[in-house]
Order: sequence, then C-alpha cells, then structure tokens
Amino acid sequence: MPPRIDPEKCTGCGLCASICPLQVFRQKQPKTTPEVAYGEECWHCNACVLDCPAKAVSLRLPLNYMLLHVDADTLHS
Ligand code: SF4
Ligand code: SF4
Repeated sequence: MPPRIDPEKCTGCGLCASICPLQVFRQKQPKTTPEVAYGEECWHCNACVLDCPAKAVSLRLPLNYMLLHVDADTLHS
C-alpha cells in the first residue's frame, strides 16, 4: 500500500521526499505537502514513517510484510 500524508499534520519540511530511496514523494514547492507521486514504487522500508518529524506519514503494510515482520528488540543471540 502506498504511503499517505496527512496534510493537516505535514509541515512541508520535505524530509520524506529527500530520504525516500525510491523517490516516491515529489515536493513541487518548498514548504508544501509533498505528493505521493510513485506510490507503486514503495518498498515499505518505513523510513518516511519513522523520520517524519510531524508524524504525518502512515503506511499500511501488505499482508505478506506483516506476516514476516519481526521486531528486532525481541531477537536474542
Ligand atoms: S517529512 Fe513529514 S512533515 Fe516533512 S514534508 Fe514529509 S510528511 Fe510533511
Ligand atoms: S516506506 Fe520507504 S520506500 Fe516507501 S515511501 Fe516511505 S521511505 Fe519511500
């Protein structure tokens, strides 16, 4: 599922557009909410969700990602 940006929370900082390795976001003007231009390219790395300072990005993981998800904190050597 492509990421979604809540325009009510987004401050237009542009961080998501600059960090996304797949360039899913496109910010046409500085200090504006980026658009999700290439949502189908998203590989669900979650970086945009974690790094957005306004917590404005949400991501629904596909079912196969949810089944494979392992919380690193629960791993023991
Ligand atoms: S990182 Fe968050 S606040 Fe900044 S432009 Fe992206 S969605 Fe908006
Ligand atoms: S989850 Fe990763 S690949 Fe998908 S939009 Fe966010 S930063 Fe880009």
